Amino acid sequence: MTDNNGMPDYAARLAHVKARIHAAEAWSGRLGSGARVLVATKTADADAAAAAVRAGVRIVGESRMQELEEKGEALKGAGAQIHVIGQLQRNKAAIAVRWADCVQTVDSLSLAERLSRLCVQAERDLDVMIQVNVSAEPTKAGVAPDEALALASAVQDLPALTVIGFMTIGLNSSDESAVRAGYARLTALRDEALVRSERGELPLRAAWELSMGMSSDLEWAVAEGATMVRVGTAIMGDRPR
Ligand SMILES: *Cc1c(COP(=O)(O)O)cnc(C)c1O
Repeated sequence: MTDNNGMPDYAARLAHVKARIHAAEAWSGRLGSGARVLVATKTADADAAAAAVRAGVRIVGESRMQELEEKGEALKGAGAQIHVIGQLQRNKAAIAVRWADCVQTVDSLSLAERLSRLCVQAERDLDVMIQVNVSAEPTKAGVAPDEALALASAVQDLPALTVIGFMTIGLNSSDESAVRAGYARLTALRDEALVRSERGELPLRAAWELSMGMSSDLEWAVAEGATMVRVGTAIMGDRPR
């Protein structure tokens, strides 16, 4: 399906993803939870990414800082909020600070300290999420679940950064209960962060976002409480291998 500019019908694909979210909210008893859609635009060129934004996508996720540097201007120009969703090396942090509204992949204090220093220099604030490796797969980025709240608190204490929640890349598996157990773990962490912050034990009052779920498993993430799903192929199409 293409429109007259030869672009795919991103609006129709976005509507389809939203229908999947609503259906999952309905069967899991979370109607009205209103998970938002982030579109992962890695490998999509600036024109395609900007077209998706004009079709109604509000939040775009970039994984590679080289691509972000190339597409940042077009994405901002189209009105997108930009989130960093890929592993961020300290020496690329300046690119994130130049373009991103949120870095979802903070998994070490040293990365957060670097982002904080750069933000102070640039006289800007930055939202961040703590990336948690809920499935404890050795190859996967993210802090261990039992270290996540200590890291989140230390990050929140840095100047210019606000911890707005937690992000995870789910288990790549068709085993529903195993995948959902990982997402449930992230939700439990977030709930603990909010409850303990309410009691004054932690500084994480703003940390309510749960970025979890992708094209293939977003229903399971929504059922476990996702506030934001990250969708690539279901909207942008298949990526080149
Ligand atoms: C690419 C990517 C996604 C989207 O994956 P799809 O399977 O294409 O929906 C989600 N999260 C992260 C971190 C990604 O890199």
